[in-house]
Amino acid sequence: MLEYPELGTKMEKVTKCPIDNSPKLKKIRVDNMAALKCSDCGLIFLHPFPKEEYLKDIYTKDYYLSWGIRNECDTTSKEIKKKFFNKILGIIQQYKKKGRFLDIGCALGYMLEVAENYGYDAYGIDINKYAIETAKKDIGDKKVFLGDLRSVDFSDRYFDIICMFDLIEHIKNPVELMKDAGRILNDNGIIVILTPNTNSLSAKLMRRYWFQYKREHLFYFSSNNIQRLAENAGFKIVKIMPAKKTTNLFYVYNQSQIYPVPIISNILRYVYPILTNRIQGMPIELSFGEMLVILKKNGHGPD
Ligand SMILES: [Zn+2]
Repeated sequence: MLEYPELGTKMEKVTKCPIDNSPKLKKIRVDNMAALKCSDCGLIFLHPFPKEEYLKDIYTKDYYLSWGIRNECDTTSKEIKKKFFNKILGIIQQYKKKGRFLDIGCALGYMLEVAENYGYDAYGIDINKYAIETAKKDIGDKKVFLGDLRSVDFSDRYFDIICMFDLIEHIKNPVELMKDAGRILNDNGIIVILTPNTNSLSAKLMRRYWFQYKREHLFYFSSNNIQRLAENAGFKIVKIMPAKKTTNLFYVYNQSQIYPVPIISNILRYVYPILTNRIQGMPIELSFGEMLVILKKNGHGPD
């Protein structure tokens, strides 16, 4: 399997911003992790990146427990996730009504199920072995792949829609990933990205304590500098919008205990256990400071 070249190892000193080449990098701390912030475009990235062993440990079966998925039979969490994906597919429909659809970082494959319901020819890829084994049962062997984008030999311009949900902030070299995606995207295709936005209200309010600052999130983009990333990889932004997630209190509670947030985690620790199961599982719409970005190839695609 080909590995992405790494930007921020301890040995190699990063002297330029990976998306605009600015030398003006400032050392900062985000939730007690060392990071660099570009004074020109505002990009924030962990430096050095956490060790590979640490990241490998994160992406196991347990990763999905923090999503509020108690087990494979937990239909409530699955329904809530699918509800969110339904909403997103509704938006995608405005740009691409049909075609071949790839979800990079497809996890348990819920997005693929929803995409198929909409009539898309859906494929998925993920580095999580447990997730891919589960997804294969629902979607089929030939359309779900284990590994990163470079480990599967997709033909040029094969896909019409490529989704990257909660993915790009985890990748060690996002510019390379975008270029790879550009190769397998049809000239009239679109890329849909969901990622935390450092210009969001929660990021501004919580500053270095923002709940999106976590060890597996290596890069933190904003609604401004994601444009630069897009241009570097040969894309143009069609639309950027704030994204609310459909979730439930079970998820919020679990996240708040795994990644403590001042005050909120404490309140939930007392309040959550006295709520009924029905209330804990009820779907709610919440902003996690994320943005939904729709991109097309420069000089091609929908307007
Ligand atoms: Zn920069």
